[in-house]
Amino acid sequence: MSEPAHALKAALDLPFEVTLDGAACPTQRDFGVENPATASELARCPAVSREQLDKAVVGARSAQRDWREVSIDGRREVMRDMASRLAEYADELGALITAEQGKPLAAARAECTTMGPASLLGFAAMDLSPELLADDADRRVELHRRPIGVVGAIIPWNYPVHTTMQKLAPALLAGNAAIVKPSPYTPLATLRAMERLRDVMPPGLVQTLAGDDELGAWMTAHAGIDKISFTGSTPTGRAVMASSAATLKRLTLELGGNDAGIVLPDTDAKQLAPLIVRSAFNNTGQVCHALKRLFVHSSQHDAMADALAEAAGALRVGNGMNQDTDLGPLANRMQFDIVCRLVEDARDRGGQVRCGGIPLEGPGYFYPPTIVGEAREGMALVDEEQFGPALPLLRYDEVDEAVERANASEQGLSGSVWTNDTALGERVAARLECGTAWVNQHSAQPTANHVLFPFGGVKASGIGRERGEVGLLEYTQTQVINRRKTESPPEGR
Ligand code: NAD
Repeated sequence: MSEPAHALKAALDLPFEVTLDGAACPTQRDFGVENPATASELARCPAVSREQLDKAVVGARSAQRDWREVSIDGRREVMRDMASRLAEYADELGALITAEQGKPLAAARAECTTMGPASLLGFAAMDLSPELLADDADRRVELHRRPIGVVGAIIPWNYPVHTTMQKLAPALLAGNAAIVKPSPYTPLATLRAMERLRDVMPPGLVQTLAGDDELGAWMTAHAGIDKISFTGSTPTGRAVMASSAATLKRLTLELGGNDAGIVLPDTDAKQLAPLIVRSAFNNTGQVCHALKRLFVHSSQHDAMADALAEAAGALRVGNGMNQDTDLGPLANRMQFDIVCRLVEDARDRGGQVRCGGIPLEGPGYFYPPTIVGEAREGMALVDEEQFGPALPLLRYDEVDEAVERANASEQGLSGSVWTNDTALGERVAARLECGTAWVNQHSAQPTANHVLFPFGGVKASGIGRERGEVGLLEYTQTQVINRRKTESPPEGR
């Protein structure tokens, strides 16, 4: 048996546990979690009841009262221990991520060795000192960043452990407690990660629960949860916002995207193709900020379609446990069906499928990297978020027109401009309605993201930002302490 297969077997031999008040908590119900590479059940996952959520909230509130009194250096130390512990268990957790989510093992391990630790260590290095607003003869005024209380972290299925750490790190540094709810498609690695981290965190500080979508809805309506940090689709984001209104929760919403890339005609199609393919198909296209619509000048459309088809066709699709796999399966049946439907619709409406376009034989949700030329608005592949390995190419004639069509989406997560004239690229990028606009890169390049760069969307792609100092402040509330200095009592009332 290969080492990864061995690590997976060992991981699955242990029961999966929710963590409540620092210990395993038995549940009455459970549900099946599927392996998308085999379309068969991988393991049973415990599902908490509403009463267990209530208990978790009480425990988290109590743990938070102590945690907020811990010095910032004390909090940093816990976060650094969490980062090392996560990396220590990367073989076990990586094997679980690949088995429940599908991505290649190296990328799965990276959630525990680089991405997760980058969030924990990056935020641990940040500061939350009070700001002096005024200090004169009459008064001294300071602005303090106080914790919000208990944060509900609701996680999607594309990067389960990384997204969890990206929310926990700022929440904990700021002095909050958290209740984590992984996606019902990918709960296993997160539950196990939090089991492995139990003894480096105060009990109750992070309660890790699992259940179906209903658990998310209970959390957003819960009066004992003060903030929701949600990552997921735009429709669910709307439901989260509506449900949080009654208790006036603070919200960070990281929602879907339909990112446009605009290629200017001064570029070389063959040179760009591998970069664009990686930006579109990394994680089998299941990245919120993947390149999802590519605008190509009419003069370059055919050359670009050929070059992209060649680069995409070279990617190896397979089980993420195999070392030579570039793209794993889609993570679940629902997403597989969406991608099949969108590509079929594009074909029916005159799109030219240059490579891929037909699901691979199962079992498992394998879909080949697909390039669709002559795509246009009105095709579902262009108008909806595909969240999968199918990239539409849209012709344009004028840059102004391309910008207008790129901005015509209700979403605005990120976007990119590709050109040899970087000054022009920056000017065009500045006109894209999105939270991050890249020049000559998009999402998947190592230089594209960093824990210090605030990330989030405009329009229906979300509210608020994650990462960076701006992201940290989302987990705080401002308090101004205004002390009058003069000794005599104030005049009048
Ligand atoms: P989803 O919206 O279906 O689910 C996300 C989470 O919300 C899951 O944990 C789910 O159980 C929970 N949930 C479902 N219904 C709920 C409800 N009514 N109330 C509260 N919680 C509920 O999204 P998904 O399919 O898991 O993820 C894919 C989507 O996430 C894509 O649209 C993608 O673009 C987006 N995404 C965005 C970002 C970002 O940073 N902007 C990052 C990753 C994914």
